[in-house]
Order: sequence, then C-alpha cells, then structure tokens
Amino acid sequence: MEKKIAIYPGSFDLVTNGHLDIINRSVNLFDEVIIGVLTNYKKKTWFTSDQRVKMLKKIVKHDKIKIESFQGLLVNFANHKNANVIIRGLRAVSDYEYELQMALTNSTLSKEKVETVFLSASRDNLYLSSSLVKEIALNNGEISEFVDKRILEDICKKVEEIKGGTNDKIISSR
Ligand code: ADP
Repeated sequence: MEKKIAIYPGSFDLVTNGHLDIINRSVNLFDEVIIGVLTNYKKKTWFTSDQRVKMLKKIVKHDKIKIESFQGLLVNFANHKNANVIIRGLRAVSDYEYELQMALTNSTLSKEKVETVFLSASRDNLYLSSSLVKEIALNNGEISEFVDKRILEDICKKVEEIKGGTNDKIISSR
C-alpha cells in the first residue's frame, strides 16, 4: 500500500508545546510526517528558518518525522514530497476563517489532490501561541511551561540579542 505522507507546515517561530502536541498526535495517523518550516521573506521572524529547523530537530526525534524548510507555495512543496495531506492545528474560533481560506485555496491550487486535516488543539494548549510566548520572554516572564526546556537557552539568547539592540530588524510577528 502507498505510504501516507503528511506535511505539517508553519512558521514555528518559536516552537511551542502546542505545536509539539499536534506533531505527536499526527505521527499516529500517518506513515510519515514532514514538518515544513516556512521561509517567508515578507514575514519578520525572531529566528531564521535554519535556526527554527535546528530548534525543532533538538526536540523532535522520531523515525517517522522529517524536518525541512521550504519556500514558495505549500502545494508545490507537498507535491515534491509526494504528500497529499496538510496538517493544521485549530485553536479558538479566531483560527478558523484564515485556516478555512488556506485549506480551500490549497485544495484548488492542487486540483483537489491535497487534503487539509485539522487537529483540534488540546485543552492545555488552546490559548498558546508563539507570539504570546515571545511577549512573555521579552518581559522576563517564565516560559518553561509553554516550550520544551531544550530550547530555553536559544530563546534567552535571542531575547538578549533583541534587547541589546544588535538586530533592530527583529520584531515580534503575530
Ligand atoms: P503559521 O504562520 O503557518 O500559522 P504557526 O507556527 O503559527 O505558523 O502555526 C503552525 C500551525 O500550528 C498552525 O496550524 C497553527 O494553528 C498550529 N498551532 C499553533 N499553536 C498551536 C497550539 N497551541 N495548539 C494547536 N495548534 C497550534
């Protein structure tokens, strides 16, 4: 039988326990899950896509999971990887409209070959977002409840860098 390959795309700037929950649950549903880290030159991120890939690789170690960065259209990346499923996480109602728009667009662009599967956020992570964690980190708050401890140092370093003003291009995204 053909291998079921799914792509979990996102910015992952920075990766939270909410992302990890979706990743862990996806593994049980598909033969292979490719975490696609989007390089979007228009979106200002704290971490470069290489750094985001590295941070994910520090935490996510599983035979069925690959971590790669990509640019351009998601459907092209999916096609290139022989994946016909896109995984997205759904939190509150506020996610819904944007996600629906993306799912329908990707379906059309792929000539209905790519299907988007939504996994609901778990209760603990329902209100967790990368931008919230970044905001807390910038204000010296405790973030260890929200992210894996193996990336705490990367985050602290980045906060110092931002506060030190060494990179004034870095601003909080959404
Ligand atoms: P994007 O810029 O593509 O939205 P994100 O890294 O913000 O990238 O999110 C990637 C995916 O993970 C999205 O489908 C988003 O809804 C989902 N996600 C983000 N945070 C959570 C969370 N706390 N629980 C479940 N899913 C989440």
